[in-house]
Amino acid sequence: MNKTVLITGSTSGIGLGIANQFAKEGYNIMFHGLEVNGAEIAKEVGEKYQVKVAFSNANLLQAEAIEALVAETIKIFGALHVLVNNAGIQFVSPIEDFPNSKYQNIIAINMNAVFYASKAVWQQMKKQKFGRIINVSSVHGIRASEYKSAYVTAKHGVIGLTKVLALEGAPFNITCNAICPGYVKTPLVVGQIKDQAKAHGMTEDEVVEKVMLKKQAVKQFVPLEAIADMALLLAKETSTTITGSSFVLDGGWSAQ
Ligand code: NAD
Repeated sequence: MNKTVLITGSTSGIGLGIANQFAKEGYNIMFHGLEVNGAEIAKEVGEKYQVKVAFSNANLLQAEAIEALVAETIKIFGALHVLVNNAGIQFVSPIEDFPNSKYQNIIAINMNAVFYASKAVWQQMKKQKFGRIINVSSVHGIRASEYKSAYVTAKHGVIGLTKVLALEGAPFNITCNAICPGYVKTPLVVGQIKDQAKAHGMTEDEVVEKVMLKKQAVKQFVPLEAIADMALLLAKETSTTITGSSFVLDGGWSAQ
């Protein structure tokens, strides 16, 4: 039987990269995201790799929508083996100007949604005696950068939650781990380059060179495939004892 994976925010960037690799390995995929062409993206991947797919544009700002997304996934596929909490947003600003609404949305989408989705899959994973929860945190889950108060708070929170779920999941073969990438060139980062340029008073090229990749020893954006390979490893049957950990793919940023 093919396993089923629900990947939040999988119609763009890192989530789509993860979805492609999982489909290649024969997983059925519940695609999710706010992109207007989400259904087409899902169909395309399904046809390419001959796996079953579905798509939802549930709004992660609402707990009820997240619960419905999980219920829909289980209804369509009859199981839910892997949950990848990937969706996220960013906003960059000095704290004194940071809009409260932006702070609240980042905490809601990047952190609270991870709690609601994990809670919603729990019963099914317990019943299956198998579950893999993979949280896409960030190097900002273990390090700080100025002007990212909301994002750094949320990503650190996700790592705390990851550890708790690992402890609670252990008796049921439910593992929970976090992946902490450095910079990956996705639409989220392209937006950040613009915002950071404004905050730092620099050109966009200067931001990439002097701010973003400055902290990475390896002066390259992290490839999507590397993150997807890590997620695939964490999803394996044999990865039962890999739990409660954070896997850092940051080009050596946090080695300093
Ligand atoms: P992206 O902008 O390309 O994709 C984000 C996805 O989340 C999209 O599919 C979007 O529709 C979805 N999403 C956003 N708000 C939503 C909402 N309210 N309801 C439902 N879906 C919503 O971003 P990305 O760069 O691929 O980021 C994916 C994850 O990786 C995020 O959690 C991000 O913090 C994390 N991350 C990214 C980088 C990077 O450099 N790109 C580095 C470290 C961690």
